[in-house]
Formats: sequence, structure tokens, C-alpha cells
Amino acid sequence: MTPVYLDNQATTPLAPEVFDAMLPWLKDNFGNPHSPHVLGRKAAAAVEVAREQVAALLPENGRVIFTGSATEAINLAMGAARTRQARNRIAVIDTEHAAVRDTALWYRTQGFETRLLPVDADGLILLEELEACLSEKTALVGAMLVNNEIGVIQPIEQIAEMAHRAGALMLCDAVQGFGRLAIPPQPDLIALSGHKIYGPKGIGALWVRDGIELPPLIHGGGQEQGIRSGTLSPALCAGLGRAAKICAERMQADMTHIEALAERARSLFGDWTVNGSLEQRYAGNLNIRRDGLDVARLMSDVRGVAFSAGSACASGSGRPSHVLAALGLEPLQIKSSIRLGFGRYNSLEDVEQAAHLINQAAETQLS
Ligand code: PLP
Repeated sequence: MTPVYLDNQATTPLAPEVFDAMLPWLKDNFGNPHSPHVLGRKAAAAVEVAREQVAALLPENGRVIFTGSATEAINLAMGAARTRQARNRIAVIDTEHAAVRDTALWYRTQGFETRLLPVDADGLILLEELEACLSEKTALVGAMLVNNEIGVIQPIEQIAEMAHRAGALMLCDAVQGFGRLAIPPQPDLIALSGHKIYGPKGIGALWVRDGIELPPLIHGGGQEQGIRSGTLSPALCAGLGRAAKICAERMQADMTHIEALAERARSLFGDWTVNGSLEQRYAGNLNIRRDGLDVARLMSDVRGVAFSAGSACASGSGRPSHVLAALGLEPLQIKSSIRLGFGRYNSLEDVEQAAHLINQAAETQLS
């Protein structure tokens, strides 16, 4: 039996229209988009259509660079810190995804001072802490739009304004918000991923504000605007482009649907406590806990639902979630937390069935 899929923050199913858009570039149209002949030019044109489709959801005064993942886009973006001469400080929110957090920490080995900015009990950045840490030494500030574990939405506009006042660049990891919410226009660098928007895995993109210098991360033929070498995959680009286009067309309808699913879920999980802000939240993410529960056991008992445990980080390492810890949760509370992620292709019945199975297993365990 296929489980009910409620793990849409980990990845999303491929939209059928996206599959159709990718197929021709995997079959007859196999040209290298960097070749000058007709097959190459056809593939290059498809890549440019996709670029426009992605750019349509992003601010106007910048360009889109295709990458192999959002993680690569973030690594590329953080290289901008190296171009800021005397500035050698990086500040990122403590609850960032490992793609930002671990990369920022790695910069310590490169002579940078990296600060992890604390959050309040709701998971929202403490702006006064950001203010206190900014100086003429700050090269880059990183803040995510929507948190992948708890769904809280950070005040990107304010963070970017504060970073800019100090002369720093602002990177926004928009992976969990792109295609679902309007993207705030203030950041200088914005990262996104194909497989979180019903597009393919293996492609991401970085939006870069005009005038921002970016050292290459991958050296070679210079195919992608001289910054990111390697042959682009027209199929992956076309898939990401079509996925972005559908998101643009359906953003309101998707949100209305997801809000209805979330409302139903909140009523069915009334005995659970929500982790993270109730107000500043993307509705498609419900991170909840129930005291006394062992979520590892719950997950092995509930085979009919694909969901995520709060106790294991995204890499599946089994390390306690640094996000829930940053909110001030005790280790036992972290071990009793689960994440449910709703998406475009979930139905109310999915939510009801999942709630029934999870609540039944939780009751059995706690009785
Ligand atoms: N940032 C956030 C917030 C994410 O949720 C993810 C994926 O889980 C990433 C970055 C990394 O994306 P990718 O899988 O494209 O490298």
C-alpha cells in the first residue's frame, strides 16, 4: 500500500505537466545547449524560456543562474562574502537549513567570523540580536524565508534593510517559500530548488541582484554565464521552468487548498502542541509534539503515512533537530515532535486518514 504522503517539505511529487515538459528534452531533442548548431540552439532556447519562467517569480533587477541544487546555489551565493574586502563577518539565523548554517560555519576555516543569530520561542529571529551583531565588518547576512522544519516565516524585509544599513549583502534561502508565497524584493541573493515546487530533483537556481560580484564555485567551460561551469540539462531546466510557471498560475488556488488541509489537520491534532509561531507560519507545515511520545517508535508503528520526525535532522543522521533546540525545547520534547507537510496533491481524506493512524498509534503508545 502506498503511504499517504505528508512530507512535502522534504520533497514534492513531480507535477504531471512538468513530466510532459521534460520528456522531449530527454528523447529526440538531445542537443547540448552550448553547441552552436541547430540542435544546440533549440536546447538553448528551451533553457532561456525556463529562465524567464523562474525569473517571473523573482525581483526584476537581477539574473537567474541555474545550479544543480539549492545547496549549490547557496554555496555559490555565500562566495559573495569573499568579495567584500575588509569585511570578514557572516551572520545567519541559528535555525537555517544545513545548506546555509553549515556553509556559514565552514567559512570560519577561511578566516571569517560566523555568528549564529538566536530566535525566540516562536522560532522568529530576535532583530535586536541582529542589530547588535551588525557592523562595518559584516559581509553577509543569511535568513530563510520559510523554515523547512517548523514553517515559520522570517521578516525578510526588515532583515534585509538592517543588513543593507550596515553595508552587508543579504542572502535569502527561499527554498520553502518560492512558488508558494510572494518573494520579498529586498534580498541581494535568493536561492531556490526544483524539487520543492513539484519540479525535478537535481536543479536549483540562484537569483543575483544586478551589480553583485560572484566568484565562480565550479570552474571549467564557464557555460552558465561564466560563473557556473558544466553542461546544463535542458530537461531539468524545462522542468523547473514549467514547475515555476504552474506555481505562478496556481499560487492562490494552492494556498487556499493548503490552508483548508492545515485547518482540518489542526482540528484533528487538537491534543498536540504546535512548535513555532502560529501567526508567522506557512500553512503547509505543521510541526507538532505530544508529551511523552517516542517519535522513533511512532514512525515505525505508522507505516501508512510518510511524515517526518522532529528528532532527526534532514540528513537522517539522528542528531536532535537544531531548529527545535534553538526554540528552547527540551530533548524529550524534541523526541516527541513530528512534521506534517501538506501539498497541492493532498486531499482532505489524506489528512483525515493520516490523523487517524497517527493519533491511534500515539494513544496506544501513551496508554
Ligand atoms: N534550504 C532549505 C530551507 C531546504 O528545505 C532545502 C532542502 O531540504 C535546501 C535548502 C536544500 O535544497 P536542495 O535539496 O535543492 O539542495
